[in-house]
Amino acid sequence: KFKSGGLAERLSRLQCRQRSAISFWRHKSISDTSTTTTVDRPGVLVLEVLRIHEECSMQLALCEQLHPPRDDHQSQKSVSEEKTHTLVLFNRETAAQLSPAPRDIIHIHPPWQSLSIEGFSCSVILNTHFSQKVFSSRNGLSAERRMPYHLGQMFRLLDACGTKQVAASEASCVVGGSGALARHCVSLLEAIEGLGQAGSVDQDVDVVVQRVYSVPLADSSPVSILKHRTRSSTAPPPEERSTTRLCVLVQDDYGTFSVVQLQPLPRSNELHRFCQMWQGRTCVLRGIKVVQRVTRERHSRLFSLLDSLWPPAMPLKDHGNSLSIPDESRSPGPAPSFCYLLSGQQSSVEPTEGSTRSPLYLPPIKQTLRDILQSETKTCRCSFVATVLYKRMQSADVGQGEVWLVLTDPSLQEEQLERPCRRTVALCVNTSCVLISSVLEALNSPAVYQMSFRDAIRENGVLLCGKQSVIEVCSVERGTETESTTGRDSPCRSLPEPRVKTLLQPYRLDSLGLETTPNSLCTLTGVVVGVDENTAYSWPVCNCCGSDNLKLSSESSQTFHCMSCKSALDKPDTKVQLEVFLTSSSLNDCTMKVKLQQMTILSLLNAGAVEGSELHGYDVESILGKEVGPIPVYVRVVTRKPALWIGLEEISLRGCR
Ligand SMILES: [Zn+2]
Repeated sequence: KFKSGGLAERLSRLQCRQRSAISFWRHKSISDTSTTTTVDRPGVLVLEVLRIHEECSMQLALCEQLHPPRDDHQSQKSVSEEKTHTLVLFNRETAAQLSPAPRDIIHIHPPWQSLSIEGFSCSVILNTHFSQKVFSSRNGLSAERRMPYHLGQMFRLLDACGTKQVAASEASCVVGGSGALARHCVSLLEAIEGLGQAGSVDQDVDVVVQRVYSVPLADSSPVSILKHRTRSSTAPPPEERSTTRLCVLVQDDYGTFSVVQLQPLPRSNELHRFCQMWQGRTCVLRGIKVVQRVTRERHSRLFSLLDSLWPPAMPLKDHGNSLSIPDESRSPGPAPSFCYLLSGQQSSVEPTEGSTRSPLYLPPIKQTLRDILQSETKTCRCSFVATVLYKRMQSADVGQGEVWLVLTDPSLQEEQLERPCRRTVALCVNTSCVLISSVLEALNSPAVYQMSFRDAIRENGVLLCGKQSVIEVCSVERGTETESTTGRDSPCRSLPEPRVKTLLQPYRLDSLGLETTPNSLCTLTGVVVGVDENTAYSWPVCNCCGSDNLKLSSESSQTFHCMSCKSALDKPDTKVQLEVFLTSSSLNDCTMKVKLQQMTILSLLNAGAVEGSELHGYDVESILGKEVGPIPVYVRVVTRKPALWIGLEEISLRGCR
């Protein structure tokens, strides 16, 4: 049942109306026996069938057009003009009704349509519902059935329109008479066309692995459910469970791309091993299934990666070139507009023996952040190494929800005499980007790390890591990554030394300005003009564990007992919280609200070591007019309408000035 008023319902109604119009016309034309009057009507085609064959349940008739007997007022035509060949397409219903055969005379009544194809000698007649046989040759021959065309040939040969002799595909890829397939192929398209049972590709295909990455595995996916069941006896701890799936982006010698989804990865750090094993090499794909054909319109981010791999590093083979010799002079044309999603298992990708780096491989090109920020391209993929100065998480758990990173690199920190650029840049890591465990550890540590970002997306000036992006911690131990995996899992294995020597500390930040964007870092200097009384708090915390779960001891009202670490405290620490409104001489007509850190609050209150009781009676007047800064701040919100309003938070950033 179709949705009322929907496209499908309207289309179905239209088809119904067409069917009844055709049967009504047929009924009328049978009862109306005078054929001569029909011929006289304008727009009626009179055709003699020469040859006929069946293709994809349609019947295709090569006909000679006969001109109706001339009337007096019709212009004289030369004899040569009278014989024109046309190709007529009959759909299944019309063909069954008409059963056309060679030497039959057929009338086609309007509305028929004529299609002329460039480079094709005769025109094609379509929409031939109102067709009538007026002379039967009584030739009992039925239409010869032909095999459908190879789609792969059509993809590349559309411009040549079949005039070019189609290559009989790779010699090794020909379908045998018994239905047995040659097992080897170099074209993804031809392998996918020759699909076997249940969408599985029977042939092995030679491809170049352009990228190896992992994607998050949805919890509800059938694979993960299966995994848990079969492993139930020795259930791994939650963090050891497979949460990511290995993927490869491959390309064949003809330039066609495919994404192959492979097995779940038990430990996300294994990704690096697969990258080293496969990326850049010629591999054999086997035992794969077709999941989906995707197009540029719906998967723009995937295609931004394909665009970064285009034009190819070497001339491509051409499906129309029977010798399959790459044509040096031929331009590769625009990047493909489609890509196949395939699925396979661990054994589906295997490097060919002795394979080194393929000449078709295009490795990610490392750029500086300055080059990336000043690039003119709207959407592109970029790869770089940067220092992570600060992180901001949507949820307390890294790896759940978005993470914002503030990055910098030497190109942004050095003296910028011409074309000044920002000192830091924000990057959003969305949930479709897998953070491998070494990256998670680094993000959870307070140290400043250098990380490499591969195939990040630059979209409308914003940096983003999503699907197909890979983040890795840069370490000096990089050369020894091929060590056995058993040693890498021990919990006491410390993180590699961060390599931050290339950047001179302290880092420079931009000062807050009109063009400041959310999620960036700035330095702020200003004068306190107001205090948000609702956010002013002070409370005692345990000086051993930092917990605020304290209880007054029963014996003395001066001592506390920590409920978390069970220690008795003579003098608990005091935490303070305060948000103030500032004005800045550099930013007029702008309201800035800053959440301050403890040290700044204490210095504003002129209190070196404040005890809880003393803070309660602080005087708002005493901090008004006081100067704050320069302090490093994280920009939380920027509202430009109705007036500029910036929400900030002071952060502690080691080594920043
Ligand atoms: Zn405690």
